[in-house]
Amino acid sequence: MEFKITLLPGDGIGPEVVEEAVRVLDVIAAKYNHTFQYQERLMGGCSIDRYGTSLTDETLSDCQSSDAVLLGAVGGPKWDDPNAKDRPERGLLALRKGLSVFANLRPVKVHAALIGASPLKPERLQGVDILVIRELTGGLYFGQPKLREMRGDCEYAVDTLEYYDYEIKRIVELAFKLAEGRKQKVTSVDKANVLESSRLWRRVATDVGKKYPDVNLEHQLVDSAAMRLITGPATMDVIVTENMFGDILTDEASVLAGSMGMLPSASLSEAGVGLYEPIHGSAPDIAGKGIANPIGTILSTALLLRYSLKLEEEAACIEQAVDRAITDGARTTDLGGTLTTRQMTDEIIKHF
Ligand code: NAD
Repeated sequence: MEFKITLLPGDGIGPEVVEEAVRVLDVIAAKYNHTFQYQERLMGGCSIDRYGTSLTDETLSDCQSSDAVLLGAVGGPKWDDPNAKDRPERGLLALRKGLSVFANLRPVKVHAALIGASPLKPERLQGVDILVIRELTGGLYFGQPKLREMRGDCEYAVDTLEYYDYEIKRIVELAFKLAEGRKQKVTSVDKANVLESSRLWRRVATDVGKKYPDVNLEHQLVDSAAMRLITGPATMDVIVTENMFGDILTDEASVLAGSMGMLPSASLSEAGVGLYEPIHGSAPDIAGKGIANPIGTILSTALLLRYSLKLEEEAACIEQAVDRAITDGARTTDLGGTLTTRQMTDEIIKHF
């Protein structure tokens, strides 16, 4: 089969890890007789430098007309001026909006051989396999009014946490569908004891749950969910939550796996193009050294194959190769090893 994939390597270590992920995709293409047509575009700081904007209309349109988008990371000290008229992160938000991706999926699995790399006690990490689903287009980050102004002698600011029932319904439904193929458990996280938007969230989640009698639904307040992610992460399966709670909980959950460099993510739209990226940033402290861990990006390509191209066997093939390479002791420096970005990918490719 033939697919068009837009590559947005971005800044810092982004190009280094995307290059390795493409090598892995090429091996998959050869093994399963597919053709991946890549189109590489600038996004983020590199796009500001070249075009004066973090995301051009042409790049967005190229992304919209492809089967999937693979992103490295954007940002860095060069573009950090808070007064700048454009910033790399703006490009990322515009891209998510332009692709209408409303669900961010972050699988967090702790590899048995890496339990020692996590700051948590080993006994808490046995069997951890969580899928965190964060709502991406609503809530506090987009609600209106959003403003900052002087009111008399005081400076005043407001953000608005708003949700429509249909926004909650589509993401909770996705959580139930994905839970059906897993341990059949959904934890819906809210703050229903205080927030009206959370009471709506809980009501909609309960209604959706009735359509999935085989999946167990539990509601949990965000504060206790944050605690449980540390004290009993193995008791959780699919977690679904609104935008800001998800932003915070997904980073907390990532610590379980031992290194930021390990974790992939997928951002999905209702029927259109998916966006795939590692959860880490551009890591300016190690950029250019060739030592970044490519696994988060390589596992993101597995999600791309699974969710956008519907190539489940190929996706599982990548995941198994990563798993075996780690079991055999392959480690980049963030995991206490000595392998370079390229050598780590070589080890993974050996296991196909
Ligand atoms: P970061 O994720 O870039 O780095 C945090 C720490 O983790 C650093 O010590 C880094 O060396 C390490 N690290 C990250 N990825 C790694 C990998 N693949 N292998 C080995 N080590 C890795 O976060 P930060 O330092 O807070 O942010 C740096 C820049 O990235 C900022 O400009 C920020 O805005 C941007 N950022 C971008 C994204 C994105 O593109 N989606 C996400 C987060 C941060």
